[in-house]
Amino acid sequence: MTIAIVGAGLGGLALARVLHVNGMDSVVYERESSRGARGQGGMLDIHSGTGQRALREAGLIDRFHAIARGEGQDMRLLEPDGTLLLQEDTPDDAPLERPEVDRADLRDLLLDSLPEGVVRWGHAFTSADNGLLHFADGGSAAYDLLVGADGAQSRVRALLTDARPAHIGQNVVEVGIPDIDRTHPDLAAMVGRGTYWVLGNGISLAAQRNGDGRVRIGLSFHNTAEDWFATSGIPFDDPAAARARLIDLLPGWDARFTALIAACDDTVVPRSISTLPVGLTWPSTPDVTLLGDAAHLMPPVGEGANMALLDGALLGLALAAHPDDFPAAVKEYEREMFERTSAAARMSADIHALLTSPDAARKMLAFFQPG
Ligand SMILES: Cc1cc2nc3c(=O)[nH]c(=O)nc-3n(C[C@H](O)[C@H](O)[C@H](O)COP(=O)(O)OP(=O)(O)OC[C@H]3O[C@@H](n4cnc5c(N)ncnc54)[C@H](O)[C@@H]3O)c2cc1C
Repeated sequence: MTIAIVGAGLGGLALARVLHVNGMDSVVYERESSRGARGQGGMLDIHSGTGQRALREAGLIDRFHAIARGEGQDMRLLEPDGTLLLQEDTPDDAPLERPEVDRADLRDLLLDSLPEGVVRWGHAFTSADNGLLHFADGGSAAYDLLVGADGAQSRVRALLTDARPAHIGQNVVEVGIPDIDRTHPDLAAMVGRGTYWVLGNGISLAAQRNGDGRVRIGLSFHNTAEDWFATSGIPFDDPAAARARLIDLLPGWDARFTALIAACDDTVVPRSISTLPVGLTWPSTPDVTLLGDAAHLMPPVGEGANMALLDGALLGLALAAHPDDFPAAVKEYEREMFERTSAAARMSADIHALLTSPDAARKMLAFFQPG
């Protein structure tokens, strides 16, 4: 029985790994040509009850702890006028509840844990019929169970549902400061070891220290249209002018925050944010299922990677428990996954609504310090 996984992201790799430790084979088809073909982006906080649970099932928790950054749990929350509302510094002996890890390191950990040849690079899935997968290069491969782990723009999803991601009025511009300790020690001290959050009316700035000394900064413009980048006046092909325009878009913000933008290098990346409907389900189909963003794309407030990892691990365990009855395993997995991830998507949507509302910083403070 051939288990074909489309997508070597966190969820697909967690599934392949849990199958492997349970003595089952799978093949992962990934469209990228190699593991380093595309930058993997910034940091992820991996939660003890979900993402870390998956890594425990995968037999990788000790190796994860070796690459996780406990101090990345530090947080500072500010208002645009510079008022510091909350500062949380992680003691050295604090439990690793939500440590940060570089996405590339976590993906490497999973990739290195799989036998040679499990991941087939350069295989872009296009369609499936009659137990055959088809790839963009004209090739095909047989499957008994097809798992779509192909992320936000999943192509496998169309086999199960007509649902498509819809824009949620958030447009993010990603910029960053390389080697901040050396190049801008004053800004490095200001950002600290973890997440630095400035929440204004309709605009938020999230700066985060990465393992390689880069500080990544996401400037989110909320309640904006899907075509906002075209009308924003940000010249993405002229980084210096783009930084100047971003600073113009922060009128009244404290000079320390605009200094952060001014110190960024020439990487300026637009990212428009879409989600799937909260609580999306589909009628169970014996030979196809989805996991991760393909199944439940949610606002980027810290749940997506954790859910993808746990989906992969739990589907792997269900298949290992029913090696001769994949349809039963898929049903069991989907029942739990729908319930768990719709709760996570609802919570993520609530946090997203809070971020976009007036007085977001004070509301976020109340969220972190209820009562
Ligand atoms: C800016 C941003 C910040 C985020 N921060 C966090 C965070 O701090 N914490 C958190 O938990 N989550 C975070 N997320 C969400 C998280 O990144 C995703 O939820 C998670 O990566 C989903 O994993 P996945 O395995 O489902 O998909 P992905 O990691 O997207 O992997 C999908 C894989 O499928 C491959 N693929 C796609 N199409 C095909 C095809 N046709 N054929 C073959 N292969 C294909 C892709 O190349 C990719 O390798 C963030 C998201 C964004 C956008």
